[in-house]
Amino acid sequence: MSKVKYYYDSDTQSYRKIERRKGRRIGIVLLSILGSFLAGFLLLVIYLNIPQIVTPKEKALKRELQNMELQYGLLNKKMGQIQNVLANIEDRDNNIYRVYFEANPIPEEQRRAGFGGINRYKDLEGFDNSKLIIETSKRMDILTKQLVVQSKSLDEIASLAKEKESLLSSVPAIQPVKNVDLSRIASGYGWRTDPFTKVRKFHHGMDFSAPRGTPVYATGNGRIERADNRSTGYGNHIRVDHGYGYTSLYAHLYKYNVRVGQRVQRGDIIGYVGSTGRSQGPHLHYEIFKDDQRINPINFYYGNLSPEEFDKVLEKAQQENQSLD
Ligand SMILES: [Zn+2]
Repeated sequence: MSKVKYYYDSDTQSYRKIERRKGRRIGIVLLSILGSFLAGFLLLVIYLNIPQIVTPKEKALKRELQNMELQYGLLNKKMGQIQNVLANIEDRDNNIYRVYFEANPIPEEQRRAGFGGINRYKDLEGFDNSKLIIETSKRMDILTKQLVVQSKSLDEIASLAKEKESLLSSVPAIQPVKNVDLSRIASGYGWRTDPFTKVRKFHHGMDFSAPRGTPVYATGNGRIERADNRSTGYGNHIRVDHGYGYTSLYAHLYKYNVRVGQRVQRGDIIGYVGSTGRSQGPHLHYEIFKDDQRINPINFYYGNLSPEEFDKVLEKAQQENQSLD
């Protein structure tokens, strides 16, 4: 209950009650509410502006967090550099190695594909630095996948290279008789006059005329398929199976020094020039088969002939003359 206040009225010479006006009371209430608000706001402003009171532990944690963000930034930079190096390797892989070994280039989408389906980064969500951590993890995952794809590609190339090396050393590629030992190239592949019947007939090989006993060399790596004289016309002859569909034949030999099943390397001496079988004088009759079809041996001397020598051989081989058979 509020006190009743009086005042002395000199006019009436009596004490009169002070009547409190209602409006004034509401004003006071409003003012005090406003004051409270103001005080609260002021406190908030002060609280927000003065350096917060942090414990040493919080301070250390904050520094650690800052350091981690910095390190993440550096890692991202390094990953960028690694990505550049890898991109360069991928480029060489697609445009040099795979092209050389006749393998299809690996498409960009396949190399850089991310991971579909489930969200692999769900556990990393919900933190202030989630974005940084998720982006970094994604980058790392893609980089890892790129490396796996590249590594597989190199494995493939390594096996292709091995195959190519074996193919290159197997396919006939040299002259079966050394140029210095040759008297002449008697006859090439094509239509020639038969030395016995004088009738034009197809000569399926090349004749190298050389003195009896001149060494004959295996023209590619392979396995001796035949070494005998039981074939009409060829006399003592050797057949070498080179694999990949290639076979070479050496006929009219004086003698041979290999047996069936034996493995030979390109350049090994397998026999000696002679004139056994249907032959007009000491020479080597040489044939090459591809998938059981006889083909022109002229295209298989690139291993030991210079371009000039090859031109000479080609010119002589193309002359239509009498073969030695
Ligand atoms: Zn011949």
